Amino acid sequence: MNSSILLKFQFILLASLFTLSACSKPAPVFHETVFTMGTLVEVTIVGADAKIAEEAYSAILDDFNYMHNTWHPWKPNALKRINSLLQTGAPFPIAPSIMPLIKKSQILSEQSQGLFNPAIGQLIKLWGFHQDNLDEIIEPPEGEDIQAFLKNLPKMSDVKFKGISMFGTNENIQLDFGAFAKGAAVDATIEHLKEFGIKNAIINAGGDLRAIGNKNGQPWRIGIRNPRADGIFAAIEISGDESVFTSGDYERYFESDGKRYHHIIDPRTGYPANKSRSVTVIHSNAATADAASTALFIAGPEKWHAIAKVMGIKYVMLIASNGDVHMNPAMAKRIKFTIKQPTIKLSNPL
Ligand code: AMP
Ligand code: MG
Repeated sequence: MNSSILLKFQFILLASLFTLSACSKPAPVFHETVFTMGTLVEVTIVGADAKIAEEAYSAILDDFNYMHNTWHPWKPNALKRINSLLQTGAPFPIAPSIMPLIKKSQILSEQSQGLFNPAIGQLIKLWGFHQDNLDEIIEPPEGEDIQAFLKNLPKMSDVKFKGISMFGTNENIQLDFGAFAKGAAVDATIEHLKEFGIKNAIINAGGDLRAIGNKNGQPWRIGIRNPRADGIFAAIEISGDESVFTSGDYERYFESDGKRYHHIIDPRTGYPANKSRSVTVIHSNAATADAASTALFIAGPEKWHAIAKVMGIKYVMLIASNGDVHMNPAMAKRIKFTIKQPTIKLSNPL
């Protein structure tokens, strides 16, 4: 045996011994679930010292509670104060607690051609979604109230910055980060975990998540909810640093006269978007994934491709309102159906 082959052989032997020892001794797993940001948040940390995992968890709980309180769309808080100041049009000092959300969502809103539009809080409120209990809603709003709002549709670009001040240029503006705050919070808390030296973790906020590293050498396996039945529709494996976000018409809705009115509003019509049942996207950044899943849901099967491209989203699965499953080829390679494989409409590569 020549020496280079011998070296290779020794390396393979060492590598497999290492893998065997890694398999035989599973890394410690920290796992906690908490109700915050209006949903159940599941935190899993793998391979970290138990004390560090505890400390990191307690730190991100504080983060979550702070963000939940500051960004909540209808409780009295910093966002509410800013909304009333923006409506006056007069300049006021920049609010550091909301500023990063505004700046990032201005870019994403522009890229989505205004389909993701967190400036339409008044419209979301008009539909009754600014309350916890949707059972109390008995009918949709009056068409003329919707039309009156659309005549002066606020946009994210109506928030202006000048020096150390900010001001609004549309009296209808009301920021509601319901489509984006969860993603921003997941990003912030994952970054905080990294500061604790944690390399393998997943933060799953009601099915929307970001994962870093892996689970004991294996990829994280994620279930995607069936939009029309209980249980999982498909599974996907992620590793490295990836976020998976889904927007669906089953998450918040009320029924009136046998019709379902859900919470994702098309800013062009003022009514719940009617082309999709759910959209799942994968992107490294959770806030971008969150905004994109909402925007592509509204875009529907004909328009999602163009908008995903501008938003820089490489993996998309859209279940249309007629049940058709649309995907780009890169997503199709990663999705494993847990139900009978549906017919997939593949788009061009993104
Ligand atoms: P998601 O589940 O991420 O798609 O977010 C849905 C939430 O975003 C809703 O409950 C509303 O608070 C808000 N929302 C609804 N329509 C829009 C829209 N067109 N742009 C931005 N936010 C929206
Ligand atoms: Mg979203």
